[in-house]
Amino acid sequence: MEDNFINIWEKALEALKEETSQIAYKTYIEVMVPRLIDKNTICFLSPSSYHIEICKKRYLDLIQNTLKILTSIDYKIIFEAKDAIPENESDDNLDVEIVKGQYGSIKVGDNNIINNINLDPKTIKENAGLNPRYTFDNFIVGSSNRFARATAYSVYENLGMTNPLYIYGGVGLGKTHLMQALGNATIDKDPSKKVIYCTGELFVNELIKAMLNPNMNDTFKQKYRNVDLLLIDDVQIIAGKDKCQEEFFHTFNSLFESGKQIVLTSEKPPKEINGLEDRLKTRFSMGVSVDIQTPDYETRLAILKKKAEEERYVIDEDILVKIATRVKSNVRELEGVFNKLVAYTKFTNNPLTDAVVDNTIESILVKNTQIMTSKLIMQVVAKFFNIKVTDLTSDKRSTTIAFPRQIAMYLCREVADMSFPAIGKDFGGRDHSTVLHAYSKVKYDYDNNPDTKDLIDDIKKTLERES
Ligand code: ADP
Ligand code: MG
Repeated sequence: MEDNFINIWEKALEALKEETSQIAYKTYIEVMVPRLIDKNTICFLSPSSYHIEICKKRYLDLIQNTLKILTSIDYKIIFEAKDAIPENESDDNLDVEIVKGQYGSIKVGDNNIINNINLDPKTIKENAGLNPRYTFDNFIVGSSNRFARATAYSVYENLGMTNPLYIYGGVGLGKTHLMQALGNATIDKDPSKKVIYCTGELFVNELIKAMLNPNMNDTFKQKYRNVDLLLIDDVQIIAGKDKCQEEFFHTFNSLFESGKQIVLTSEKPPKEINGLEDRLKTRFSMGVSVDIQTPDYETRLAILKKKAEEERYVIDEDILVKIATRVKSNVRELEGVFNKLVAYTKFTNNPLTDAVVDNTIESILVKNTQIMTSKLIMQVVAKFFNIKVTDLTSDKRSTTIAFPRQIAMYLCREVADMSFPAIGKDFGGRDHSTVLHAYSKVKYDYDNNPDTKDLIDDIKKTLERES
């Protein structure tokens, strides 16, 4: 049984190698050692809890699907960290949830989007992967998003005329909201319209399923090429994945040629997405690109007021003003503070004092303000690469140590804003020119090699969380 399973895992690895970037495969997948715990539970021994977290988020679905195709077994997957850092309680749950689209997934082969006739709009929306909560009406307009909102609305009014609509901007600024509002409004106007909302991640996962099972291939093609409105959220994730880009290129062309509407969102404009094929950059830039920026004070306050109204939550205007003044970076954080206050009132029934409001704001903002030190960076990088902190400050020159060391130095400069001599001092008394060399090398790699970029971005995220 166990022997047999090793063969299966080897086969799965071949498929996974094809579908992930070289660095991702080496850093997250290849390093795991699987063990069959019972008939349908696998435990992956992984270098650290960071790896596990990233694996769960990005690759669990992929691994599970790949194994299912190979064996027809729906394996439960659990992870164990070699570094034995205690994980959250929820991580101990054997029934790890499959990562799905933000609001559920539409399985390949589901026909429900085709037979919309007798369903109510809410069900149609849910089947399309949409969350009915997102509407044009509850999207507050301000200078940061006015043009994006107006463009999205005009695309909704003239479906298929502006192709594609490409919405970009930082996290938590309302891209998903706007895109879903467009989908929801389309169904409200005409429930027979076929709409699919899907994250780039879900698209990638479904494509892999389809590739591993030839019977599904046609169904996949049919599903995505047979819609009136295709919404792909966070499309940047297909960058660097050759087969996905290829398939998406054909899906795009097929919809484009038949005058169907495509809407895409991403963190960045097409030409700035590393690893995105040129022909896709060209396609994505063919219609209209709009960006959403950080909301200004008036918009922030209006969003809070709208939320209070929606939730029928009675709250002093002064408090909303305080939140809008202090929470500036994005709407998600603004909502985070608001929701925490609502929960506080609900569970304690106490009035909101200044101290409660201040603490709540602090708890959300604190991550952005804490100072990042070289010590923290070294700890995180060492854990990430499964080496010792002292290796980073040592003279060892093997690549397994030198590469992480260069990355750690780069991060000290980039994230903690340290000077080159100060970094050199903290890394075992190295000369500032050595640090400069390491920094330039990693920076070049970061800008030119999408795999290195992904890796460093992962470490940065871990750092943000740890600080
Ligand atoms: P993004 O996709 O850009 O990361 P989201 O669309 O998920 O951001 O927005 C984050 C949260 O903020 C969501 O709950 C969304 O409803 C809310 N939000 C964003 N922009 C607005 C807005 N202009 N009006 C009302 N709510 C907004
Ligand atoms: Mg989003």
